[in-house]
Amino acid sequence: MSAHSLPESAAVWHGLEVDKALELLDSNADSGLTPQEVEQRLQKYGPNELEEQGGRSPWEILLDQFTNIMLLMLIFVAFVSGGLDFLALQQGTLKAGEVPFKDTIAIMAIVILNGILGYVQESRAEKALAALKKLSSPSVRVIRNGKLTDVAGKDLVPGDVMLLEAGVQVSADGRLIEQSNLQVRESALTGEAEAVNKQAILTLPEDTSLGDRINLVFQGTEVVQGRAKVLVTNTGMTTELGKIATMLQSVDSEPTPLQQRMTQLGNVLVSGSLVLVALVVGGGLIHDLVKGIGWKNLQELVEVSLSMAVAVVPEGLPAVITVTLALGTQRMVRHNALIRKLPAVETLGSVTTICSDKTGTLTQNKMVVQSVYTNQKTFRVTGEGYAPVGDFQLDGQKADLEEHPEISALLVACAVCNDSVLQKEAGEWAILGDPTEGALMTLAGKAGIEKDQWNSKLPRVSEFPFSSERKRMSVISQVEAVATGDPGMTGVDPVIAGFVDSEQYLMFTKGSPELTLARCTHIYLGDRSVPIDEEQHAQILAANDQMASQGLRVLGFAYKPLTEIPPEASEDTSENDLVWLGLVGMLDAPRPEVRAAVAECRQAGIRPIMITGDHQLTARAIALDLGIADADARVLTGQELQRMSDPELEQQVDLVSIYARVSPEHKLRIVQALQRRGRFVAMTGDGVNDAPALKQADIGIAMGITGTDVSKEASDMVLLDDNFATIVAATKEGRVVYTNIRRFIKYILGSNIGEVLTIASAPLLGLGGVPLSPLQILWMNLVTDGLPALALAVEPPEPDVMQRPPFSPRESIFARGLGAYMVRIGIVFAIITIILMQWAYSHVQIATGENLNPERWKTMVFTTLCLAQMGHAIAIRSNNQLTIEMNPLSNKFVLGAVVATTILQLMLIYVPPLRAFFGTHYLPFNELLICIGFSALMFVWIEGEKIFFRVMGKKNV
Ligand code: ATP
Repeated sequence: MSAHSLPESAAVWHGLEVDKALELLDSNADSGLTPQEVEQRLQKYGPNELEEQGGRSPWEILLDQFTNIMLLMLIFVAFVSGGLDFLALQQGTLKAGEVPFKDTIAIMAIVILNGILGYVQESRAEKALAALKKLSSPSVRVIRNGKLTDVAGKDLVPGDVMLLEAGVQVSADGRLIEQSNLQVRESALTGEAEAVNKQAILTLPEDTSLGDRINLVFQGTEVVQGRAKVLVTNTGMTTELGKIATMLQSVDSEPTPLQQRMTQLGNVLVSGSLVLVALVVGGGLIHDLVKGIGWKNLQELVEVSLSMAVAVVPEGLPAVITVTLALGTQRMVRHNALIRKLPAVETLGSVTTICSDKTGTLTQNKMVVQSVYTNQKTFRVTGEGYAPVGDFQLDGQKADLEEHPEISALLVACAVCNDSVLQKEAGEWAILGDPTEGALMTLAGKAGIEKDQWNSKLPRVSEFPFSSERKRMSVISQVEAVATGDPGMTGVDPVIAGFVDSEQYLMFTKGSPELTLARCTHIYLGDRSVPIDEEQHAQILAANDQMASQGLRVLGFAYKPLTEIPPEASEDTSENDLVWLGLVGMLDAPRPEVRAAVAECRQAGIRPIMITGDHQLTARAIALDLGIADADARVLTGQELQRMSDPELEQQVDLVSIYARVSPEHKLRIVQALQRRGRFVAMTGDGVNDAPALKQADIGIAMGITGTDVSKEASDMVLLDDNFATIVAATKEGRVVYTNIRRFIKYILGSNIGEVLTIASAPLLGLGGVPLSPLQILWMNLVTDGLPALALAVEPPEPDVMQRPPFSPRESIFARGLGAYMVRIGIVFAIITIILMQWAYSHVQIATGENLNPERWKTMVFTTLCLAQMGHAIAIRSNNQLTIEMNPLSNKFVLGAVVATTILQLMLIYVPPLRAFFGTHYLPFNELLICIGFSALMFVWIEGEKIFFRVMGKKNV
C-alpha cells in the first residue's frame, strides 16, 4: 500500500469517490483484503482499540481507599498508641516482656491490608467490567479473501470491507461503498439523537462538518435501520471517537447502593464511638478530679478510648463483602445471567416488576407454521421443526396445491420476502436468521418452493427493512423471464404470471395482518387481483382473530406490481394499494420452565408483565397459558396507549399485565409510569430501539442470543439463554446476596458494639486496666468474627426467600430491625461479658498460683467474647428457624469456621509464644469452662428471641 498517499484522517475521506478511496487503501469492494495484508496492516496500525482514558490512575484509586472515615480513625489510633509506647520507652515504664509498638504495627498492617484489599477490589471490578465489555463487544462481519467472516472488532484494519445491519454498533470509521436505507444514530459522537440517513453515492465538500458527512460511518455509532457495505478507513485512536479521548468506554464509577450504605454505616459507627469515648474519658476525668485523684488515670483512659476506637471499626467487613459479591456474580453466571454493572448484583433482589418480551423470552422462539388462510380456506400444515417436510391439508385431506393458485402465490411471497437461510447442518435442518422468517422458509420448502431458485426469477433490487414500529417489511424484486418448459420459450413463472402485466418489478410485503390489510385495495383470487370488498375484509380479520386466539403468531402477506423501483425511505407512500394474499399462523410454544418461574414470581411479590409486538389475542392466549394473566385480564394495545396521557397510563399500569402491538417507545413510557408508581422495574429488550427503555429500567436486561449490540451496551445484565426463568433465578440470587450481607453485618456489628460497651464499662466499674488490647480486638474483628462471617456469606437461601415481598433498594442499612438488632445484641453481649468480668476480676485476682497471673481476668473476657460469637454464628444462620430445626450440614462452612476459630482461640491461651505475643494468660480448665458457660448464654438468648417472635406471631426479615 502506498502509505504516503494515505490521507491522515477521515477529514478528507468524505471528499473522495468510493473507487478512489478503495484505490488509496489498496482494497477491493468484492473480495476485501487478503490474510497477509491484514497481518501487515495490524502490525502497522496496531489493534482497533481505544486506549482507556478519563478513569482514575492506580495511585488515585489507592489514595481513595484512605479517605474512608473508619480507616482514618484507625490511623489516628495507631499514631497515638505509638506515641504512648514511645513515652513508655523513654520513661522506662514499659512492662516486662512487652514488645513496644506492637499495637501500632498491627493496626497499621490492618489499615494497609484494608487499603490494598479495597484497591484490588476496585481495580478488579474495573478490569472485570472492562472484560465484560469486551465479552459483549461486537464481532464484525467482513469480507476477507472473497469470503464472509466474522472477526473481533479489535482485528479490523484500514482497508477492510465490513458489513453493517440494523442493531450493530459500528466498530471503526469508514467510507460507505453501498447502502440500503441506512440510518445511523450518531449521538455518541455528535450528541444528536435523531438518526442520520446515509448515502454512499455522494461526494462531499472537504469542509463538510462531522454531523453532515453522510457518506461516512463512525466508530461507536449505532445502525438503527438498513444495511451497508463499508470500507474501513480509520481504526483505534485515529477514529473520530478515538480523537475525542473517549468518555464512552470509561468505567462507571458511581458508588453502588451497597457502598453508599457502608459509608452511612461508617459515619454512624464512628460518630457513635466518638460520643462514647468523650463520655468515658470526660466522665472518668471529672470523676477523678472531683475525688481528688487528679490526672493519675489519664493514661488508662486514653488506652481505653484507643481500644474502643479499634473495637468499633469492623475491620473484616470489606473483605467479606468483596467475597460475597464475587461469589454472587459467579453464581448468577452459572444461572446464565451475566452481570454487566456490578450494583445489579445487590439490587436485583429488590425487583418488584419484571416486564418481559414474549417472543423468545417467554416462548421458545422455535416457530412452526400450523395454518395458512387464503381465499376463505384454512389449510392445516403438518410436519415438525424446520425440516421442509410436511403436507398441506384441507378438511383433513391432503390438498393439491395446483388447484389453489392463491396458496402457491402466497408461498412464493414467503420465500422471497425473507432474509433467513434454511440449511442442513450436521444432518439437521436449521435456519440462519430470524426464526419467524425461518418458519416461512420451511413452509415454502414443504411446497417445493426454494429460495435459490426464486432468487433468479425474482432477484431483489431494493427493500424496506422490518422494524418493530412498522411491524412489516417489503422486498422489491425484478421480474425476470425464465425458461418456461417449452423448448426455446421464456416467460414469467406461471405462479406469478397473474401478478404482472407489463410491470417489471414486484413488491412483496409481510407483517402484522391488520396493518398490512389496511393498506390493501385488492385481493388475489383465482389467478388475478380483484378489488377487495368489506365482507372479504371482515372475513380475513375474523380468521386472523381465530388463529391468534389459539396463541398463534399471525403474519399477513400482500404484493404490489411496480413499473419502477421506489425511492429509498418512501415506505410510507410505497406500501399502499397492495394486493392481499393471505395469512400464515405459526406456533411458538411457551418455554416449559416459564410457568413455574411465573408462579415463583407471584409468590415472591414480583409482578410479571408481558410486553409484546404481537397481536392482543396471541398475547392473551400465551399469557393465560403461562399464568401471567387470567381469562378476563385487560390487554392494553399500543394504539390505546398512544392515546393515553402519562397520568392516565399511570392509573392503568398497576392493573394491566399484557401489552400488545406495542412499539419500543411505548416500553419507555410503561417503565416510567411504573417507576412513578414506586415500582422497581426489570425490563427486557433486544432491538436497537429498546435501548432507551433498558437504560431507564432499574435493571435493564438484554438478550444474549437474539439481542443487538446496542441493547447489550445499554443493559445491566445479559441473559445468556434469553430465558425468562433466568431472570427469576437471578432475582432470587440477588435476594440471597443481600440477605447474607445483612446477616453478616448484623453478626459482626453486634459483637463490635458488645466489645465497645465492655471496654467502656471497665473504668466505670473501677476495674484496674483495660480488658482488651488493640491487638486482641483486631484478632477478634478479623479472625474470630471474620472467618464465621465469610462462612455466613455462602449461607444457602432460606426456604422462604421467594415467598416474601421484595425490599426497597432505597432502604437504609439499619432498616427492618437491623439497627435495633445490633444495639440489642450488643447490649446483651456487653451484659454477659460485664457480669463475667466483674466476677472474674474479684475471684481470679485473689486465686493465684503457679502459672497463674492475676491479670488473667482479661483473658477470660477476651475468651468469652470470642466464644460467644461462635454461638452467635450458629444461631444467626436463620432469622426465624431454630437451630435444631435446621440441617447443621446445610452450611458446612459455618461449622468448619466455628471449629477452626475455637481451636485458634484456645491456641492463643495455651501455646506460650502466642500467649506472649497476644498478651494473654494461661487459664485453668475450670475457668475456661466458666468462659464457655457464659458464652453459651449468647446462643441461648438468640434462640430465645426467635421463640419469642414466633409466639408473638412476628416474622424477622
Ligand atoms: P416480542 O416483543 O414479545 O419479542 P414480537 O417478536 O412479536 O414480540 P416484534 O419482533 O417487534 O415483536 O414483532 C412485532 C410484529 O411484527 C409481529 O407480531 C409480526 O406481526 C410482525 N413481524 C415480526 N417479525 C416480522 C418479520 N420478520 N417480517 C414481517 N413482519 C414481522
